[in-house]
Amino acid sequence: MTLSQDFPTNTRVSTDSFPVNPAKSSWFVPLGRSPEPIPVPGRNCTIRPDVSLSSMTSFRVGGPAELYVAPRQVEDLLASLEWAETRGLPITLLGAGSNLLVSDRGLPGLVISTRHLRRIEFDAETGRVTAGAGEPLPRLAWQAAERGWTGLEWAVGIPGTIGGAVVMNAGAHTSCMADLLVNTQVFTLDGSVDRLTPADLNYSYRTSALQISSQSPPHQVRLVAQATLQLQPGADPAKVLETTTAHLNNRRTTQPYHLPNCGSVFRNPTPYKAGWLIEQTGLKGYQIGGAQVAQRHANFILNCGGATATDIFHLIQHIQETVEQHWSLLLEPEVKMLGEFQMA
Ligand SMILES: Cc1cc2nc3c(=O)[nH]c(=O)nc-3n(C[C@H](O)[C@H](O)[C@H](O)COP(=O)(O)OP(=O)(O)OC[C@H]3O[C@@H](n4cnc5c(N)ncnc54)[C@H](O)[C@@H]3O)c2cc1C
Repeated sequence: MTLSQDFPTNTRVSTDSFPVNPAKSSWFVPLGRSPEPIPVPGRNCTIRPDVSLSSMTSFRVGGPAELYVAPRQVEDLLASLEWAETRGLPITLLGAGSNLLVSDRGLPGLVISTRHLRRIEFDAETGRVTAGAGEPLPRLAWQAAERGWTGLEWAVGIPGTIGGAVVMNAGAHTSCMADLLVNTQVFTLDGSVDRLTPADLNYSYRTSALQISSQSPPHQVRLVAQATLQLQPGADPAKVLETTTAHLNNRRTTQPYHLPNCGSVFRNPTPYKAGWLIEQTGLKGYQIGGAQVAQRHANFILNCGGATATDIFHLIQHIQETVEQHWSLLLEPEVKMLGEFQMA
């Protein structure tokens, strides 16, 4: 099976994807499908053609998925994977889209959203919680706080899914998923199901072995179906709720939540903060089309209205070039760029 998350771009901006063979990609060779929804054989699940992805990313930009499915059960997910595999289609995995920049041209092949793969199970004996890939991280953080379970207070302001958080090693306030993860259930395209531990995932700052690079062969790509986290039960729920609320309020005052964005655009290059490096170059407020470097936090790019993915991509390039001129340092994007982008 060909599992792909984007095209090679030949830019200095990293993309997390497989190279797609243009000769084989359905993007380049239209398959002449009917615009009707396609039932997944044997399942109560349909694949929809030409579905806009802009409302499914926190930047609110991007073109359509050639084909899109949002399975409600793991069996539907496996059947959808098999359906794509037998047709040799590239596959893109989509969580909450809160760390994605999707090309204006959209994505070829099948986009699989985990948004309906939701469940939360708290085990009071072990202090562990197991959550489905599509469960929103903030929802899990609030539920843990309401029970008086500590450990996830930092996660309340991160608008991703559990699956996306495991893949990205999401973190804040000096904590991250690597600190909590007991194991994660992942599917591969050959149908195998693995239970991986943090050691298997080779975790480091906002990085995991589950992130796909353009050099990765397709067989290395895996879909997170669920994750089990170790929390600490037994605290006063009022206190945990108070800490959780304080984290959220702190973020709301220091970060721009009022306009579409993807959180931090660049990784912090140790020992510096990317936001500080960008701010020192005077780029706060700099705008290309509808995309602007946030005044409140220079490592955020805002869609001020009507931005395209191309605007954002060109602004990312401009920031990289400006910072490199000032600091002789190339900022590495944290945001995952999917699809085809042209250099400015
Ligand atoms: C306002 C705002 C604030 C943010 N603050 C933070 C922060 O403090 N800390 C932080 O770490 N991040 C932050 N982020 C970024 C983002 O929320 C995290 O990276 C989050 O973990 C992404 O999860 P997601 O479900 O949205 O993943 P997506 O953006 O949908 O996907 C991210 C990557 O993971 C892959 N993926 C998604 N789900 C799966 C799955 N089930 N199996 C395999 N691969 C999968 C995708 O293919 C993609 O490569 C912020 C974003 C916003 C908009």
